[in-house]
Amino acid sequence: MYLDNLATTRVDPAVVAAMVPWFTEDYGNAASRTHAFGWRAAEAVEVARAQVAALIGAERAREIIFTSGATESNNLALIGAATALGQPGDQVVVSAVEHRSVLDPAAALGRLGFAVTVLPVDRGGSVDLDSLRRALTRPTVLVSVMAANNEVGTLQPWAEAAELARTAGALFHTDAAQAAGKVPLRVAPTGADMVSLSAHKLYGPKGVGALYVRTRRPRLRLQPLLHGGGQERGTRPGTLNVPGIVGFGRACALAGDNLDSEAVRLQGLRDRLHQALERDLGPLPLNGHPRQRLPGCLNLCFPGVDGARLLPACRGVALSAGSACASGDSGPSHVLAAMGVDAALALASLRFGLGRFTTDDEVDYAAGRVAEAVRWLRGLG
Ligand SMILES: *Cc1c(COP(=O)(O)O)cnc(C)c1O
Repeated sequence: MYLDNLATTRVDPAVVAAMVPWFTEDYGNAASRTHAFGWRAAEAVEVARAQVAALIGAERAREIIFTSGATESNNLALIGAATALGQPGDQVVVSAVEHRSVLDPAAALGRLGFAVTVLPVDRGGSVDLDSLRRALTRPTVLVSVMAANNEVGTLQPWAEAAELARTAGALFHTDAAQAAGKVPLRVAPTGADMVSLSAHKLYGPKGVGALYVRTRRPRLRLQPLLHGGGQERGTRPGTLNVPGIVGFGRACALAGDNLDSEAVRLQGLRDRLHQALERDLGPLPLNGHPRQRLPGCLNLCFPGVDGARLLPACRGVALSAGSACASGDSGPSHVLAAMGVDAALALASLRFGLGRFTTDDEVDYAAGRVAEAVRWLRGLG
């Protein structure tokens, strides 16, 4: 049973249906200008571009640049903006709880001579805006603070961070891979300069995403990471993934249609899961902000159990743990560490990611399975 919807989501059947003809019938290259196959593909890409733009409140569809996913978008935003618009010695500011695909490009900029500042977070995982204010007293090319965290779900005060950056003359980027389609996002008129998105976090296909790049007040021109054909106005060359882009657009439209009601439903399920677990197991400290949090995210510590045995004991329920296992090391995650969670407790944490296809019955089953596993592990002492 699948409760790992912050890692990835099932592609919505309506999205699959929208994609299929672009593999089998209308398989043209969107850059082909000499025949109808190409024209139709190009038109479909423009429809999707408008759907993605609408989900985040972008003023113009052409501000959406299609990429292979949020990892590429984050790399393009940080490296493309800093190298085009800044120079070595300038500061780049990121938060301590960013995804690796923001932290690692920031470190690469550090090796190019940029001064990288990492902002601390509080116990709930919220970025400290006072330390941002202090950091911004030095020349800064770019600030990057995510919209929602992928491990604990905390919604960052990114609009306030964007305002501080703008006042200081710095660009602002937000990684909205988790927030988009889950909570309302309005990037225009004064929000972020760049926003990263990923289709597979919102019931679209893997391997496609986008970077919103502001074209007015100011118009941004990024240094491309790839060089080749002129696609995406030269910012991201390469033959467009037409079926993936069509699916991404459709996924954005679906997510936008049901955003509020789905958020209420997921919050209800999430709280039901939390209550069921605590009824059985006693208090379970919450990782993440108690209220400013993604509706489908529940990250809990399980005191009194050996972290290394927790996930294997929950066999049958697909979950993530509080370790940095995705990056191949067994220490606690950098997010929980930055929040000041004790290392042993961090390792004894589970992330439940509820999604569009999660039912009441599944939540009750998962609560039962996990509670049984934890009681057994506690018994082993
Ligand atoms: C999943 C995720 C990414 C990476 O997105 P991909 O499309 O898988 O490359 C980046 N940032 C956050 C916050 C994510 O959750």
